[in-house]
Amino acid sequence: MRAVPAYAAERPNGPLVKTTVRRRALGEHDIVIDIKYTGICHTDLHQVAEDWGAGTFPMVPGHEIAGVVGEVGPGVTRWQVGDRVGVGCFVDSCRTCDNCRAGLQQYCTGEGGTVFTYNNTGRDGLPTYGGYSAELVVDEAYALRIPDSLPLDAAAPLLCAGITLYSPLAHWGAGPGTKVAVVGLGGLGHLGVKLAHAMGAEVTVLSQSLRKREDGLRFGADDYRATSDPATFTELAGAFDLIVNTVSADLDLTAYLGLLRVDGTLVQLGAPAEPVRLNAGALLSARRSLAGSQIGGLPQTQEMLDFCGEHGITADIELIRAEQINEAFRRLEEGDVRYRFVIDAATI
Ligand code: NAP
Ligand code: ZN
Repeated sequence: MRAVPAYAAERPNGPLVKTTVRRRALGEHDIVIDIKYTGICHTDLHQVAEDWGAGTFPMVPGHEIAGVVGEVGPGVTRWQVGDRVGVGCFVDSCRTCDNCRAGLQQYCTGEGGTVFTYNNTGRDGLPTYGGYSAELVVDEAYALRIPDSLPLDAAAPLLCAGITLYSPLAHWGAGPGTKVAVVGLGGLGHLGVKLAHAMGAEVTVLSQSLRKREDGLRFGADDYRATSDPATFTELAGAFDLIVNTVSADLDLTAYLGLLRVDGTLVQLGAPAEPVRLNAGALLSARRSLAGSQIGGLPQTQEMLDFCGEHGITADIELIRAEQINEAFRRLEEGDVRYRFVIDAATI
């Protein structure tokens, strides 16, 4: 076992405090990642607050991890010490079910299912601890290569926020000739705008206000509308092929569904604690679909990182010291972030 410095919540809704966690010793196919940077995803707030059910404490959040390979196990073939690597929301899966074989490890149906990076139990029987930490021990197959052209701090959020938007945009065919709306300009949303624009789609941001309009246009949006203005919903009725909803709070989807053309799809990405609300009429009046999507598998996450490397896409970040994690949580809860807090792991 290795003792590793980390920041953990010791109880539900508890503050994040400095501690030490024990990770497994380096195994045959494991690598040790010297964590350099970790993004703070809104999911980290949901998990510490037990929004989705009981959590395991102490909880070390963090699933937007960027670092450098520090050690390799004797059987490791993919990585060398010094390689720039990232780890996202999961660190293992069964590898044999249909979904794992198809590269959809995030939907593993095998025994034990997808092993999430934290607040979960690994196949080694130990609790998983995330990236608010100095080191991670992970199977070499679950690490991804970060292109040399991308700085590690601003690339870290690609490991969750980036793939969470890339995957549905690719799956539902965002590209030239398609109109895409991104609801919510936060960590996920701002990467969604950059990615959809780079894929060639016409992009509209639907935000609560016009406060972040300049930023949205700079990220590549063609249009930017406030959802607080009722005219948005009449003027844009039937306008979009695809809407990706990144809002972390409960939202009545009825009005948003009305913005889809016939056969359009609204993909739910935000995961509020409350059940989704909508009127069935908003779906059936134009053969619309409501879908969901969860992060992305290993091959598509690598594809996304390479795409971002080619297009120079990274997150707009606010780099913080570990002592500022609790303040960052509060600001993220209040929507006061432009557009991702990233922890400098050297301060842990
Ligand atoms: P975030 O940075 O806080 O962004 C969420 C955005 O939603 C805010 O910036 C805000 O945008 C909007 N918003 C917040 N409260 C709202 C409200 N009451 N009404 C309307 N809009 C509101 O969060 P994030 O890290 O992007 O994560 C967003 C959600 O996605 C979370 O629920 C997270 O757990 C989930 N998530 C899902 C996946 C997945 O695989 N599906 C992966 C990662 C995260 P405006 O100010 O522009 O309105
Ligand atoms: Zn996340």
